Amino acid sequence: MRWPKALTLWIAIGVGALGLALGGRAALDQTTQAQFQQVEARARSTMALAEASLRGQLARFERLPGLLGENRAIRSLLLAPRDPELVMAANLYLRETAQMLGASDIYIMYQDGETLAASNFDQPHSFVGGNFAFRPYFSDAITGGQGRFYALGTTSNKRGYYFGAGVDVAGQRRGVMVIKIDLDEIEGAWASDEVRIIVTDPENIVFLSNRADWLFRAFGSLTPERLARTQITRRYANAPLGEIGYQRGPWRGFDLLATRDSGQGSTEYLVARSDMPDAGWSVQVLLPTQPARLAARTSVGFGGLALGLLVLSAFILWQRRRQLAERLAVQNRAKAELEARVIERTSQLASANDALRVEVTERRAAEDRLRQTQSELVQAGKLAALGQMSAALSHEFNQPLAAARNYTENAQVLLDRDRKGEARETLARLLDMIDRMTRISRNLRHFARKPNQKLRPVALAEVVADARDLLGWRFQKSGAELVLDLGPDPLWVTAGSVRLQQVLVNLLGNALDAVEGGNDQRLILTARRDSAMVVISLRDHGPGIAPALIDRIFDPFFSTKEVGKGLGLGLSITYNIMRDFGGQMQVRNHPDGGAEFTLHLHATEAPSQQAAE
Ligand code: ADP
Repeated sequence: MRWPKALTLWIAIGVGALGLALGGRAALDQTTQAQFQQVEARARSTMALAEASLRGQLARFERLPGLLGENRAIRSLLLAPRDPELVMAANLYLRETAQMLGASDIYIMYQDGETLAASNFDQPHSFVGGNFAFRPYFSDAITGGQGRFYALGTTSNKRGYYFGAGVDVAGQRRGVMVIKIDLDEIEGAWASDEVRIIVTDPENIVFLSNRADWLFRAFGSLTPERLARTQITRRYANAPLGEIGYQRGPWRGFDLLATRDSGQGSTEYLVARSDMPDAGWSVQVLLPTQPARLAARTSVGFGGLALGLLVLSAFILWQRRRQLAERLAVQNRAKAELEARVIERTSQLASANDALRVEVTERRAAEDRLRQTQSELVQAGKLAALGQMSAALSHEFNQPLAAARNYTENAQVLLDRDRKGEARETLARLLDMIDRMTRISRNLRHFARKPNQKLRPVALAEVVADARDLLGWRFQKSGAELVLDLGPDPLWVTAGSVRLQQVLVNLLGNALDAVEGGNDQRLILTARRDSAMVVISLRDHGPGIAPALIDRIFDPFFSTKEVGKGLGLGLSITYNIMRDFGGQMQVRNHPDGGAEFTLHLHATEAPSQQAAE
C-alpha cells in the first residue's frame, strides 16, 4: 500500500512544526538566560552600590551613642533625672551634637525607658517625657551592649534608624543613649524609574523603597501572627500596612518575582538580594525582566524568521526538484507507453500484413477458381451456343432443304411432262432456296471470324459507298433513302475495310427491315471526328426497339423477325467485329422515334500508300 502524498506532507509539516516549536522554546530559553545574566549583573552592581551606601551611612553612626554616653552632663543627668538644670544642660548638649553630626535626633533614655533629654526638646514633637521601652534598641541596649532598630517614629512619624547604647554610671546601667538617623536621604539617592531598590524587614514588609508605591507593604498576605509580631516593636507605629500579591520562584538559577497587583497587572522582576543581618534587614534590587524577555523574543523571532526563510527556501527547492523529477517520470512513462504502443502497433501491423498476405493468397486462389469456373462457363456457354446454333441451323437449313427437294421433284415431274416453262420457274425458286442457304453459310463463316487479323487505316467514305452499293437493290426495291453526312474532311479509322463494310451492311440491312412499309423511310448516316475517335451514327425512322428487348438484341440468334427472314446473328457478329477494332457500339431509341446505332472507332491519319485488307 502506498501512503497518500498529502498525508505524508501533513505529517512532515506536523513534525516540522513540533520540532520548530520545541527548538524555538529551547532557543528562547537559552537567549532569555543570556539576557537575564546581563540583567542580573546589573542588579548585582546596583545592589552592591545600594548596600555600600547603606553600610557607610550606618557605620558613621554606629559607635557614636557609646561615645556620647561618656559625656558628663549625660551621666550627671542619669544620676539625678529630675533635676531641671541637668535636663536643660543635657538637652542643649544633645541639640548641639545632633546638629554637628547631622543626625536626625539624639536622646537619652532613663533605665525605665523614659526619655530624659532630647535634641528636639524644643520641637513640637519633642521626645522628652516619652517612653520608648517597647523598642528593641532600648531593650537590647539596657540588657546588652548595643541596640539597633529601624522604625517609623511613633512621635515624629518619620522613618529612622536607631542606634542605642547602654550608659553605665557608677557601675550600674542607668540609661540608654540613642541616635536616630534619617533614612529619607538614602532613599532619595536611589531614585530610578527602572530599578526598584527596597529594604525589607524580617516580616518581609518593605521599609525602604526608592518608589513610594511599595512602601509599608508586605509581600504576601498579612496574617494576624505577622501583624502581632510587628505590633510588639511598633516598628510601623500607626501607619497602615498594605500587601503586595506575588509569586516567587527560581528559573535557571535566577531569582524571579512576579507581582500580582490588582490595578497594575503583573510585572516580573529579577531579584538580587543581600541580607544585612547586623542591620536586621535585607536589601533587594528588582529589575523588570520585560525588556530582556522582549529582546530575547525579538532575537529568537528574527532567528526563527531566518530559519523559517531558510526552511521555506529549502522546501521550495525540494518542491522544484520533486516537480522536475515528477515531470521526468511522467515523460519517461509517456515515452515507455509510446514505445509499447509502437511495438504493439508494429506487431498489429505485422499480423495485419500476415492476414493480408493470407487474404491475397486466398484471393489469388479464388481468382484462379473463378477463372477456372469462367473458362468452364465459357466452355459450357460455347457448348450451349453450339447446341442452340445446331438447332437453329437445322431449323434454318431443313426448311429450304425440304423446299429444295420439293422443287427438284416438281421440276423433274414438269420436265417429264415437258412443261419447260413451269419447270424453269420451279428451278428459279430452287435457286432462291440455295441462295438463302449460301447466305446463311456465308454468315456463319463470318461468325467464325479470325479476330487477330491486322487493322489498318480505312477511308470511311469508301466503305460507306461500298456498303450502299451492296444494298443498292434493296434500296431500289423498298424506295428507302440513305441520307449521308460524313463531315467536311475525309475520315480515316483504324479497322479492316471488309469487316467494317459488313458492319455497315448489317446495320443498314436491319434499318431497311425496320422502315419497310413505314411512312418515313429515310436512313440518316452521320460521321464526325471527336478528338481521338470517329463517331458514326445510323438512325432510322422505324418502330424502334421494344425496351424489354433492347438488352438482348446483341445476343446471337436473337431475332424478332419471322422464321426464314432473320438469323439473329447480324448484331452479334457486328458487336464482335467492333470489339476486334477496339471500338464500341451502342443502341438507343431516338427521342423522335426510330432506332439509333452509334459506333466509336479510333481515328487515324491517311496512310501514304493505301493497302487493301
Ligand atoms: P436479324 O436481323 O436476323 O433478326 P440481328 O442480330 O441483325 O438479327 O437483329 C436482331 C434483332 O434486332 C432484330 O430481329 C430486330 O428485332 C432488332 N433490330 C435490329 N435492328 C433494328 C432496327 N434498326 N430497328 C428495330 N429493330 C431492330
